[in-house]
Amino acid sequence: MTDVLNTAGPHLGADADLPVRAPVLIAGHELAADEVAVRNPARRSEVVGSVAMGNAEHVDAAVDAADKAFPAWARLSAAERAARLAAAADAIERGGAGLARLLTREQGKVLWESSVDVGGAAHILRWYVGLAGRLDEDEVFRQDKRGTIYLGRRPMGVTGVIVPWNSPVYLAFLGIAPALLAGNTLVVKPSELAPLALGQVLRMLSEQLPAGVVNVVPGAAEAGSAMSRHPRIRKLFFTGSTATGQQVMREAAGNLKNVSLELGGNDPALVLESARIDDRLVGELVKGAFAASGQICFDVKRIYVHTSHYADFVERYTAAVDEIVVGDGLDPRSTMGPINNVPQHERITGLLERTRRSGATVRELGRKLDADAWDEGLFLLPTVVTGLDAQAELVTCEQFGPVVPIVPFRDDEHALALANDTEFGLGASVWSGDREHALRVARRIEAGSVFLNVHRIGASDVSMPFGGVKGSGIGRGHGLSALEACTELQTVADYVDVSSFPGPGR
Ligand code: NAD
Repeated sequence: MTDVLNTAGPHLGADADLPVRAPVLIAGHELAADEVAVRNPARRSEVVGSVAMGNAEHVDAAVDAADKAFPAWARLSAAERAARLAAAADAIERGGAGLARLLTREQGKVLWESSVDVGGAAHILRWYVGLAGRLDEDEVFRQDKRGTIYLGRRPMGVTGVIVPWNSPVYLAFLGIAPALLAGNTLVVKPSELAPLALGQVLRMLSEQLPAGVVNVVPGAAEAGSAMSRHPRIRKLFFTGSTATGQQVMREAAGNLKNVSLELGGNDPALVLESARIDDRLVGELVKGAFAASGQICFDVKRIYVHTSHYADFVERYTAAVDEIVVGDGLDPRSTMGPINNVPQHERITGLLERTRRSGATVRELGRKLDADAWDEGLFLLPTVVTGLDAQAELVTCEQFGPVVPIVPFRDDEHALALANDTEFGLGASVWSGDREHALRVARRIEAGSVFLNVHRIGASDVSMPFGGVKGSGIGRGHGLSALEACTELQTVADYVDVSSFPGPGR
């Protein structure tokens, strides 16, 4: 089979392992587009489905539909929109059997990780439904003898959501749910590397809402760039790499689009002198670094350990990582799945090759679930690297794979200097048995989120502001922050006495 499929063929459901399509979907109708095969990263010969490669014309059509749907959707009260979103959450949950399995087959992560990802759609919708009361009433900002000033939040208009491949459903809904509740209409662009489960969920969502409120243009850079440049997309939620985020911001500047950028990270974990190296600490740091094969934006990407604990920590950590079982994410015996895509697999193997050549100690650990099928998938063993310079490429880059460097430090100042010596600033963690010590250090780390004695999925729930400093992003997602990020603050000034205002004449 070639990698380019033709555009004909019915839409097929996600509940059987039949090929699934992720088409361009505008106001509920499919638009013809070239399609490309989506392959199972655990078994590259298996085609899971196909994805439409959207282009600028598709984006134009999607923006037209969203623009047309905007006035009526924006005129509904937030409570009315919330009722529609709650119904959509129910429908997604009812229709969602098989979605986690589909996500594992296209993305690679193990089944429970996929369940958390796809479960995010209904969960996040419902969480924002609970915020509807924040939007319907304008707040009285000031009231005195001059009059009354009201503050209100208004929708921005057509909103774009550009999604990466690592946690496609969850991350998409962090933009989608607040944007819809606020009264915006949408153009969503799934990544061409994990579009199928998200495409199914978006179809269910769009079926529950007025035509044109949700439009979908899957694809790669061409569609994404057309969205950044489109003058009638007023707001863009972008989640992806720092390099692409910079490109998006450059292109969005052409029409002064409001952008929220959730970008790459290189999260440090600082194991302080006041930490106790026990099974909990070691186990948490294994979960924090190897969840989704290291392909989570705020996975632990580098571990710094006080010299007094270094040897003990490395020994215990290495033993714990060695228990990871790598295989097809559908097999319940696998605790870690494959890498999602070929370029990413090549990037990590290249990085490991250079790290080995530099003289560092590279330990490939864990177990292959099925050694015979190993080369059919994009598998990598979990790898721990020691004996490398604090400035080594593996320490300073975002590896985005199951490879973790461990570096010793002398004291807190040294640890903070190492942690902050980066252009990334997404998440970080501090590990200590002394809360005050941990807090003192945490507050000096340049990162949007710092966790104490934990650093993994679940630690940043939908209610907590989340985002990066420096090169890791602009703005804060999650919670009320995301709702504020897709609304314009409007003051309405109702003066009854303007006599104190400066001006010429009497
Ligand atoms: P990516 O930047 O390659 O792609 C992200 C999205 O942008 C995809 O949909 C892609 O098709 C699209 N795109 C590509 N070129 C574009 C262009 N020129 N203009 C507009 N859109 C374009 O990122 P990825 O490889 O899909 O995802 C991994 C990266 O995402 C990692 O760096 C990870 O840290 C980051 N990430 C960040 C967060 C966060 O919340 N901060 C969350 C998840 C992932």
